[in-house]
Amino acid sequence: AAEEGFDVEDVEGAIEAAGHGPLPVLAIIGRPNVGKSTLVNRIIGRREAVVEDKPGVTRDRVTYEAEWAGRRFKVVDTGGWEQDVLGIDASVAAQAEYAIDAADAVVFVVDAKVGATDTDEAVVRLLRKAGKPVVLCANKVDGPSGEADAAYLWSLGLGEPHPVSALHGRGTGDMLDAVLEALPDAPAQTFGGGVGGPRRIALIGRPNVGKSSLLNKVANEERVVVDEVAGTTRDPVDELIELGGITWKFVDTAGIRKRVHLQQGADYYASLRTAAAVEKAEVAVILIDASESISVQDQRIVTMAVEAGRAIVVAFNKWDTLDEERRYYLEREIETELGQVAWAPRVNVSALTGRHMEKLVPAIETALAGWETRVPTGRLNAFLGELVASHPHPIRGGKQPRILFGTQAGTKPPRFVLFASGFIEHGYRRFVERRLREQFGFEGTPIHISVRVRE
Ligand code: GDP
Ligand code: GDP
Repeated sequence: AAEEGFDVEDVEGAIEAAGHGPLPVLAIIGRPNVGKSTLVNRIIGRREAVVEDKPGVTRDRVTYEAEWAGRRFKVVDTGGWEQDVLGIDASVAAQAEYAIDAADAVVFVVDAKVGATDTDEAVVRLLRKAGKPVVLCANKVDGPSGEADAAYLWSLGLGEPHPVSALHGRGTGDMLDAVLEALPDAPAQTFGGGVGGPRRIALIGRPNVGKSSLLNKVANEERVVVDEVAGTTRDPVDELIELGGITWKFVDTAGIRKRVHLQQGADYYASLRTAAAVEKAEVAVILIDASESISVQDQRIVTMAVEAGRAIVVAFNKWDTLDEERRYYLEREIETELGQVAWAPRVNVSALTGRHMEKLVPAIETALAGWETRVPTGRLNAFLGELVASHPHPIRGGKQPRILFGTQAGTKPPRFVLFASGFIEHGYRRFVERRLREQFGFEGTPIHISVRVRE
């Protein structure tokens, strides 16, 4: 590193920054209008999670990356909830159930100006049952005169209320310090089931693609493991299913089986459920209805799984209904619409007839293997050296930026840091990614490449 002009500490810092494992998850919950979205905006320091004035506007993005005092974590925003879909208590409870389940710690937001309501008390009971660390945020304390309102919230029995003005930023720093204390360094769900627990699968896809049919098929035909498996705590929304001789944990199956059909807000509900399931899983099996055109909604779900950095298998369901013409068009659609997961193993199944169910497990295992692949530094640099020599970066402004060396900083998914003498263009990065895949596999996994440029 030193002879290439990089400072050793700089190199080590870049590797450490890129090599972080899965991030802990913080859920922001509370009744509608208490200021959850405003608080999320404050925490992520962006205007991305726009506060909607219009009710019923669906937002499909619910998780964001955040950083405070040098620590990174994910934030799940439940603020997009449409309040009159299920009635206030039911909707807040359902929302809280998903969010708490996926989280490592929770910020419970209460409107200090209003005080604790019955709905708030109901959420407190849910929180007690879940046993996750909770930070109580007494929001809308815009000035010192509001502090007394915040103090009343001691009555909730959740410990110290943190007076905050999400709108103006007052008190958010102290609250985030408390959040960092509550958050574990890594998600509680250790990846790879450190204690030999079953691997976790999220079965996701838009409504009616056949998720519950598929789940029933695999659960009925194979033995459903009802007994406790050593080293696992059974979560009522997760289900242990034996497939191909291996026990797997299908996460959030209650959400699939419950099949809540809502008219309003259903998309948001589905997005939150999907995001929560993806966070809990190691591998996402994305189910797509092959009988219909691939939709924007299918693509959003794919993007969610890719951005979460999960291993991915794409399963095309309802294969029993396809005629030759549809099969032809499907292949064209896959090429144009699903390019972002061209590397994912694919299975063509029918939950109705059971077609190709046996191919599911090998595909999942392939994706998990890709997700865990580690390329030794020596082999990586031999590959990079040859690549740079045979396909140099285009010359820009009379200079030729070069990739000097690289290393794999982490796995699950694979993360690389490349060190370069100048700015490496997007197109060249993609070229490097393609070649990395050709050389080392990475089937079924997103890969991250960050580039560090010499000063
Ligand atoms: P959510 O439904 O819980 O996500 O709530 P929002 O973030 O959409 O906020 C609801 C309303 O409360 C909006 O009009 C916000 O501007 C307002 N609000 C949020 N935080 C504060 C705050 O700290 N102080 C005051 N005065 N208003 C706030
Ligand atoms: P979910 O909303 O994703 O859980 O979808 P469901 O499992 O409820 O399935 C939606 C509809 O598609 C139901 O009417 C199922 O019977 C039907 N379906 C599911 N899988 C298949 C399949 O492989 N072939 C056919 N022909 N229909 C299916």
